[in-house]
Amino acid sequence: MPGTGSRGLVLIVEDEPAIADVLRMYLTREGFGVSVAHDGENALNAARSQHPVAIVMDVGLPGMDGTEVCRQLRAEDNWVPVLFCTARDDEVDRILGLELGGDDYITKPFSPREVVARVKSAVRRSNLSEQLSVTMEVGDVVLDTDARAVTVAGKPVQLTATEFDLLAHLMARPGRVFSRDQLLSEVWGYAAAVGTRTVDVHVAQVRAKLGDASPIRTVRGVGYSVDS
Ligand code: CA
Repeated sequence: MPGTGSRGLVLIVEDEPAIADVLRMYLTREGFGVSVAHDGENALNAARSQHPVAIVMDVGLPGMDGTEVCRQLRAEDNWVPVLFCTARDDEVDRILGLELGGDDYITKPFSPREVVARVKSAVRRSNLSEQLSVTMEVGDVVLDTDARAVTVAGKPVQLTATEFDLLAHLMARPGRVFSRDQLLSEVWGYAAAVGTRTVDVHVAQVRAKLGDASPIRTVRGVGYSVDS
């Protein structure tokens, strides 16, 4: 069994040993425990048995690829934050796609420091929203931060950790308009330089899941808001 660091265990799924080693070194130095899986099957088993606080998931793996691993975890109701690593920019939409529930992505070649920063922010987000205890309601949408549950007209809707945090952030401040940069910083914990496409993709996913009941409004040329 891998050791668990004080910040929790991160599962690295990577078939290139040199990349896995570098990531392990950086994450360990930051106080994370690290476990490494080199293919999809082992990744699934590790995710099920080791309960990592986050997964750094290479997309291109021998056999079952990283997106399929994530799809299977979500199908098992496992919503651990997943940071995808991909060498292909054109894969981003598929990676962050609706049924996959990826939380974030980074393109190769990446800086290990950036990966560590992303992991920290994913873990922080999933911890933060567990600490608040509030129920918010806009129209048919009810969001319970304690249970991390969202319902539309009483029916449960399954959101990823990031989708949930984004919706909770907007619903907690009705009437306020957020720029994409603001949301990146406040919800994802990133500097704006990273790019704002992530925000749009996640807003689209939340809307697709909530349907007509979605309270998120696009404010043209500015960003997003939930009506008060
Ligand atoms: Ca690979």
